Amino acid sequence: MSLDVQPAVSLKPFNSFGVDVQARLFAQAHDDDEVRQALACARELQVPLLVIGGGSNLLLTADVQALVVRMASRGVRILSDEPQRVVVEAEAGEPWHPFVQTCLQMGLAGLENLSLIPGTVGAAPMQNIGAYGVELKDVFHSLVALERETGELHEFSLEQCRFGYRDSVFKQQAGRWIILRVRFILSRQAHLHLEYGPVRQRLVEQGIEQPTPLDVSRAICAIRSEKLPDPAVLGNAGSFFKNPLVPVAQAEALKARYPQLVAYPQGDEQVKLAAGWLIEQAGWKGFRDGDAGVHRLQALVLVNHGQASGLQLLSLAQRIQADVIERFGVSLEMEPNLY
Ligand code: FAD
Ligand code: NAP
Repeated sequence: MSLDVQPAVSLKPFNSFGVDVQARLFAQAHDDDEVRQALACARELQVPLLVIGGGSNLLLTADVQALVVRMASRGVRILSDEPQRVVVEAEAGEPWHPFVQTCLQMGLAGLENLSLIPGTVGAAPMQNIGAYGVELKDVFHSLVALERETGELHEFSLEQCRFGYRDSVFKQQAGRWIILRVRFILSRQAHLHLEYGPVRQRLVEQGIEQPTPLDVSRAICAIRSEKLPDPAVLGNAGSFFKNPLVPVAQAEALKARYPQLVAYPQGDEQVKLAAGWLIEQAGWKGFRDGDAGVHRLQALVLVNHGQASGLQLLSLAQRIQADVIERFGVSLEMEPNLY
């Protein structure tokens, strides 16, 4: 198929903040060949190339003077099947949550804690998506990425991806790689992770004592739906800041001043602080300036009440950062990718 490149396309439907900016050029790539065509097109027209998935981790601050390529490749296949180890491969453009559901329907456990995360399979390794005590790296097998500069395909093992907390080699080397497909190690024998947050409690409330992976997925979907805004209703990009890691001494000093501080020791002389708690304590929860705001139920989530621009959202984020550093001496790093 030949790549359909369109000029001056609004990106409002393609970013979960619902920010209304234009792409100079826009195309959807349905397979590897169309990805290569996009690269050739950008080179010929001498414009940058920006690859996006579901647009759920983006903050677009101006019209994008690039060829924006949305990954739209589809396909899920089982590569090998043993009871404890089923290797599944999915194309980058597969929407994440439906992919999780497909695996669960096939009787494959491992992804249940990552239910209801928006976005695509191909973007998931970018920040090593994580939720409720599980990260992508815990179920990762390998991936195939195309190096833009050379056009060569590379296979990445777990070690080569250099996954960290909301981090990977692909994030560190932004713009170098296009992830084409990802492989996961799942299992027909579930090893459930129920210790995190309110997951087990929710299952107990429902009278479920021996949960299946599907039960866990449903419980997590319910918890998330109660707390997090649906981007289709209220624009947002999930957590706007990463949870900061601080040295133990700093966490102890803060705890002495703020006994309610929400902090999780990481076992490596660092403590993870709940950024949402810091922002809430600073009084930002539910704050609104024009259409840029802070969610009323989760202070970590910035929201677009309608017509906020990317710059207005960025300005609000910077005010929060400045306030949190002044009050707590803790610096908050933004999580979404800024363009
Ligand atoms: P995009 O936003 O489209 O892109 C993100 C970045 O990846 C961009 O830099 C883009 O250039 C790059 N990129 C995208 N696809 C590719 C590719 N194929 N190859 C190379 N680069 C690529 N995140 C979590 O970790 N845990 C959560 O629990 C979570 N919950 C969320 C809840 C809500 C309501 C929302 C709105 C967001 C949440 N997120 C969460 C953030 C986001 O959903 C994830 O980071 C998701 O993986 C982003 O996928 P995407 O396809 O939308 O990526
Ligand atoms: P929450 O349960 O209210 O918890 C607040 C914070 O405390 C979370 O950010 C979480 O850190 C941390 N935490 C909670 N229990 C923990 C434990 N037992 N051990 C270590 N850390 C713990 O958070 P929430 O906002 O409702 O989100 C629930 C989960 O979904 C979290 O894992 C969160 O990361 C994920 N989520 C992510 C995004 C995103 O855009 N990145 C958006 C929504 C939800 P961690 O974030 O490190 O897990």
